[in-house]
Amino acid sequence: MTDRKSKNHVYCKVIDAIQGTRSKLLIEILKRFLTIDDCEVILALRYEPEPLEKVAERLREDPKTARKRLEKAISKGVCYFISTAQDVLYRRQPLFAIVETLFVDGRDRQLGDDFRAILAKYWNEEFIHKYYDVEKPRYRIIPVEKSIPFATLVIPYQYAADILRRAKRIVLLRCTCRSWFQRCDNPVETCMLLDDAAEYYQARGSYIKELTVKESLEILHRTEELGLIHATDNVAEDAKFLCSCCPCCCVVLRGLIAYGKRKAVAKSLYVARVDESKCTGCGECVKRCYFGAAALHGGKRRVDAEKCFGCGACAWVCKNNAIALVPVRESMRGPSSA
Ligand code: SF4
Ligand code: SF4
Ligand code: SF4
Repeated sequence: MTDRKSKNHVYCKVIDAIQGTRSKLLIEILKRFLTIDDCEVILALRYEPEPLEKVAERLREDPKTARKRLEKAISKGVCYFISTAQDVLYRRQPLFAIVETLFVDGRDRQLGDDFRAILAKYWNEEFIHKYYDVEKPRYRIIPVEKSIPFATLVIPYQYAADILRRAKRIVLLRCTCRSWFQRCDNPVETCMLLDDAAEYYQARGSYIKELTVKESLEILHRTEELGLIHATDNVAEDAKFLCSCCPCCCVVLRGLIAYGKRKAVAKSLYVARVDESKCTGCGECVKRCYFGAAALHGGKRRVDAEKCFGCGACAWVCKNNAIALVPVRESMRGPSSA
């Protein structure tokens, strides 16, 4: 095998490992910021968090040298760590998280306009079409708290606000998708990382600031007013992030809305229901629904329950409180976000 061929072979293995899609463009992208040394570390990591010794064994290095390589991998955003009471555990990062760190760190600017252009080309023309053809939805829409009529009907982790109230640590990041695609005027200082994900970004030094719960709830409220859709990782507990997404920039929502990738986002456990006696037919809620689930018929709001993702954006905007979210499914929990 020629040197170039064997290098490409390593990058192909990395693409599989980080859940990318096999592509010449992606090989070119990775080569711009990942060395073969970085690739070896990625391939030695697993999605299951592991102690240093395990990774060192796969790298065939002594623990001290392996730790140095892992620290470099953390600074490049390809390795994630979790500090436990006894140990530090390391795991591999998937492609989306790797790209996110490029934007959060500002390394995308250092890599230049040409790099940003090929990354966007890959994302729009290849990744978004293939990545979401997966069995388990990767994100879950969270209904906004105001829309939930009875607290007892709600499984607690679905509440965006409750997720924030439960978090032990919250840090604010720039929204990668809006910084990247710049298709709207929505604010970019809206992404919130929680607990060990917050610690990870703090250790890397690339975050805007640590938030109090009150500050985080204010951001949640502001983004809700703007009609942004809240999403978190598709895990049973211990959410790692709380996103407030727009349908024009968000790589996840765009997968669903623009390209019909139904598995890009998991529906919340709810569906909107309208009390026609309160509905004046003003149509405000129809403008807020990005999922094509809202329409007016005979001067009254109707819900297409099949299309409804239970995000609650329509209920928030209805001044007559004519819309409630009602639970329609028990759970679509995923075992892990890895
Ligand atoms: S997923 Fe949503 S909030 Fe997160 S970076 Fe993308 S648009 Fe921003
Ligand atoms: S916003 Fe409320 S009142 Fe207006 S159409 Fe929708 S449900 Fe009816
Ligand atoms: S009708 Fe649309 S805006 Fe309302 S909850 Fe369903 S998906 Fe969200």
